[in-house]
Amino acid sequence: MPRHRLTAVLAGAAGRAAWVAFGAACAAGILPQARAADLTVSGAAIHVDFDAAAYQGGGEPILSWVRRSGDIVTRYYARFPNPRLTVRVMAQSGAGVQGGQTFAHPDGLIRVRVGREVTAAQLESDWVLVHEMTHLALPDTGEAHAWLSEGLATYVEGVARVQAGNRTETDVWAEEIRSMPRGMPQADDRGLDYTHTWGRTYWGGAMFCLMADVDIRRATHNRIGLQDALRAVLRASGGLSADWPIERVLRTADAAVGTTTLEDLYAKMKDAPIAPDLMALWRQLGVEPQGTWVRLNDGAPLADVRRAIMRAR
Ligand SMILES: [Zn+2]
Repeated sequence: MPRHRLTAVLAGAAGRAAWVAFGAACAAGILPQARAADLTVSGAAIHVDFDAAAYQGGGEPILSWVRRSGDIVTRYYARFPNPRLTVRVMAQSGAGVQGGQTFAHPDGLIRVRVGREVTAAQLESDWVLVHEMTHLALPDTGEAHAWLSEGLATYVEGVARVQAGNRTETDVWAEEIRSMPRGMPQADDRGLDYTHTWGRTYWGGAMFCLMADVDIRRATHNRIGLQDALRAVLRASGGLSADWPIERVLRTADAAVGTTTLEDLYAKMKDAPIAPDLMALWRQLGVEPQGTWVRLNDGAPLADVRRAIMRAR
């Protein structure tokens, strides 16, 4: 499924007032015709604009999905990225969660397209909203560095969901082995900052994050990892509503974990077609391909690093 993202600053919150007029139905006992609800997730106020009557399963599963996604991201970052967020759920034909966009907006705005026939199981296993909420935790570093925000959202979505018990570890590694090779440089590649293909943006960025996570853990005797660095960036910046140069993001992240991992990797990969031996890295981590699936080997040299990445804090 293609992953979408658009980050932009909106001038205002047009339309919000009309929705709010329908009242703030709470998750317990929401009215079938409800048009809005207000949730609190880890102290953050999440306003959900949606049409409960549009969904065959009613409004409750939609609100549970927003809350669950917020909880997953909260566990990863130790707080929800924004104090206030609006999630605008747009009813579409068909089923499934069909894509989303995240805007900085002073309070954060996520627009997400959801099919009227969406099932509880599809909402339960959805990655889209976790991906979009993850965008809220990183400052805007500009379009040239979309690979960092998309790569982080792609990488963190899997790890955060495993940590929260919403996805299995083997499923995440199996997806990485299937999909991350699409992030490798192709002919004419000029590095991550200058090659804006889908593969390099999403999976090239995710590859950067995996390499950084493993490197930080190796350098710190597996005490801390990329997650700690990202938490520090969120604490220092406030997330997507901040405009930071990429160098400041990486410097802040590195300083938090006491390494120069991210800055060094960026210097290597920003303008050159670096092609790491991913299969060797996965073997060291104890991730062994078996057809389209993987087997996890706890006897591998970096198996402790793999387990620490996926362990709930
Ligand atoms: Zn995205």
